[in-house]
Amino acid sequence: METIRSIAIPPLTEDLERVLIDADTIQRRVNELANQINNDYKDIEEPLILVGVLKGSFIYLSDLCRKLTVPHVVDFIAVSSYGKSTVSSGNVRLLMDTRENLENHHVLIVEDILDTGYTLEYLVKNFKSRGTKSVETTVLLEKPERHLVPVDLKYVGFTVPDVWVVGYGLDFGEQYRTLPYIAEMKRK
Ligand code: 5GP
Ligand code: MG
Repeated sequence: METIRSIAIPPLTEDLERVLIDADTIQRRVNELANQINNDYKDIEEPLILVGVLKGSFIYLSDLCRKLTVPHVVDFIAVSSYGKSTVSSGNVRLLMDTRENLENHHVLIVEDILDTGYTLEYLVKNFKSRGTKSVETTVLLEKPERHLVPVDLKYVGFTVPDVWVVGYGLDFGEQYRTLPYIAEMKRK
């Protein structure tokens, strides 16, 4: 069978400082996390509901769910806390709810990055109040230096320093989301 390789790795633009996590390393880690999830949920009776937090998680979610062997359904939610700023306001708003009814299901929230923790704290509380069987979290990235509220993270891809990161779903003003690697933005 023909092996399909990614051909073009976009070069760093002048706004990006350096690559923090390359594409192969991300894929290896996503495989490991999927294996853990497959193992942890192997005995569930109804499909696991994956809830991706738009927009940043969409690439991580798509790679992760295609490695899952446990029955699952994919759903999304949209929240807003930052507006156009890069500093969390701590004031999380639900912009779009899930389509699935979460009641009596195991739910796994899929998030791009944990920064202050406000977003996941809000979502975990909100989903637990809906009669779910369990609510767990997975984040591709975590900024340990920035936590303001405690969040019980179950599956973490990588920890990153306190810098603004882009790529693999994460943006800066809607740019750089589709880079295949995670890069650090230059401080302006
Ligand atoms: P928290 O509520 O934990 O402070 O914020 C989480 C959200 O902030 C993430 O879902 C993400 O959208 C955004 N965020 C936090 N740090 C970064 C970062 O370094 N880069 C990008 N692109 N988004 C970030
Ligand atoms: Mg996000």
